[in-house]
Formats: sequence, C-alpha cells, structure tokens
Amino acid sequence: MFTASRLVLARKRRRMTLAKLSQASNISVRSLTAFENGHKSPSGDTLMSLAGALELPSTFFTASDLAEIPVNEASFRALTKMSALDRDSALSAGSFAIAINDWIEERFDLPPVDVPTFPHLQPEEAAELLRARWGLGEAPIPHMIRLLEAHGIRVFSLATDCSSVDAFSIRHRGKQPFIFLNTQKSGERGRFDAAHELGHLVLHSEHRIPHGPEAEKEAQHFASAFLMPRAGIIAQDLHNTSLDRILVAKKAWKVAAIALTYRLHELGLMSDWLYRVTAKQLAQMGYRRSEPGGIDRESSHLLTKVFAGLRENGISALQVAEAVDLTLDELNKHIFGLAPIALEGGGELSSPIRPSLQLIENKRLVGR
Ligand SMILES: [Zn+2]
Repeated sequence: MFTASRLVLARKRRRMTLAKLSQASNISVRSLTAFENGHKSPSGDTLMSLAGALELPSTFFTASDLAEIPVNEASFRALTKMSALDRDSALSAGSFAIAINDWIEERFDLPPVDVPTFPHLQPEEAAELLRARWGLGEAPIPHMIRLLEAHGIRVFSLATDCSSVDAFSIRHRGKQPFIFLNTQKSGERGRFDAAHELGHLVLHSEHRIPHGPEAEKEAQHFASAFLMPRAGIIAQDLHNTSLDRILVAKKAWKVAAIALTYRLHELGLMSDWLYRVTAKQLAQMGYRRSEPGGIDRESSHLLTKVFAGLRENGISALQVAEAVDLTLDELNKHIFGLAPIALEGGGELSSPIRPSLQLIENKRLVGR
C-alpha cells in the first residue's frame, strides 16, 4: 500500500520541487508525478530511494493519509512575501505535528478546548473578555505556553528549518487550536508571538481569514492588550515615566521593553515626544535587536510531562518517532525548545498504555 498524498507532503516538507527530488532520488520526474497522482505505486527499491532522499522512514509512505492544512486557514504573517516552498514546508510540518498530537491524545487525557471566538469585538475588548473568562484578573501572566495548554491549545515548535515563516496558528477542522512557535527567539518575544497567535484564534477563526495587514494589526493589538491589560498597567502609575522604571516594570510583565513603551503610548500614558525619545534610547541600548537581561524562554509543560510519562512507562522518544512513522530527528524538530527528549533509543515497547495525566491545574494561574 502506498499513500500518494504522503509523498506530496514529504516533498513539500523538504522544500523540494519535483525536479529536485528527481535529482536526489534518481527517479524520473515522470514516475514521481505518477506516484504523486496515485496512478502508480513505487516498487520496494524505489520506495527506499524516496525514503532516503526525503529523510523519512519508508513506513511513512504507507501509513494512512495525514491531515492537510489549507493555506487559507493558517495565520501566516506575510503570506505575499513568503516563498511557496517556505509556506508549504511550514504547512506540511503542521500536518506532521497534528499526527504527533493525535498519537499523544490517544494515550493521554489532555485539557479540553476552551478558546472562545469573538469575531465582532475590537482587539482590546476581546483581550479583556478572554482575561475575564480565563480568570486572569489584571495581573501579569506568569507563563503563556502553560496558560494556552491549560485551555486546550496544542503548542508545537515551528520546525527550526521553517523559522523564516515566524509563528502561525490554525483551528484544525474548525475545532482543535494549534500554535506553532519559533522557539529560538527571546523569552519575551516568544510570549508576544504566543499572545499574537491567540489573538488570531480568538478574532479570526470563524468568519474571517487570518491574513492581511488589518488582521495582523489586530493580532498585535490583542497581544499587547492581553499581556498588558489596560487596568493593570494604569494601576502601575507609569504616566510619562522614566526609562529606568520601564525597565523594572517590563520585568514584572515579562514583555519586551519596547512592547511596554508602545503600550504606554497606546494607552495615552506617554506623550508622543517622550515615546519617540524613549524608543530611540531603547534602540541605542540594543533593545530593538534583542532583550538585554531578558527572561528565559518558556517551555511546554504538557509535552514535557507527556515525554516524561512515556519514559516512565519504558517508551523512548525513538519509539514514539517510529510509532508516528517519523525519524527521531524529525520528531525532535517539532518539540525542539519546548520539551527535552532523550536522543538515545532503547527501552522495550511495552503493551499499549494509557496513563492518565491531569495536566496543569488551571487554578494555579488564577489571581496570582
Ligand atoms: Zn499574525
């Protein structure tokens, strides 16, 4: 049995045109096209060549169809500037992550989805309403990824070879939300990206496509309002404040200094003149390129617990990779920076297990 759609996804995942795959595998473009159309199936040896060229196990190509992500449903930032190869590689990486998630969901009880949609609200109101619904009050959010996971959003790493794409999110089959994060940015930027994608999920899931400059502006505004709620910021008494106080306050809110400065200006707490001066000073101090003295990157509580739970049951990361028909290296790309997985093999594949993990007590996040 050969699954044509998997060949297409694998080729896109590796950013290959038919010509390039033909070169890498020594199989003619004509045959490749016939395989991809499902008109012909490769022989055993040919399948091995394909698997080698695409760096995937041969079992990958014979498993059942993977879920595909329509390009319209993914919240890409600059779709028009993105090359089709980059876009398709990120989308197929998303398909792989969905398969990994399906496998995990069959074995663990994960938090149910609690992500409302507010398609008719302004970003500021939507952020306030979501904070109220999730019981966050006006306090800083201690851990964004943990918060998203506690409300049923699955967070995966944007495969490192897709980092040009930035973060993106989807509601898979209109229901299960996923966020794919670039886990190589600063801790503060990672949190802002997570909040930005949350904004797309809340504002743009139902009736509107999450593309275009307007949607981007709204997601940015949502992220700003969600991480730095109006009432909480006003209570800090930061009216026309000094740079020193901004650098103290940004640590408490766990946001970039520039993001806090922008927010103060947005809320009318900083004059245009002072905003320009402060932004310039911050840029001179290196805060535009990076975040000096910044916070650690956030990791995934959920994936860390899942892989630890599997290990306790004698199931190694390599066995997980084999079970989802990926190589360990490919599996690692999807959780890189979010959860440590042992890179060595070993461990017997025991009988099917179903450990129940009660993940993430919501209450710990509330009303700090
Ligand atoms: Zn966006």
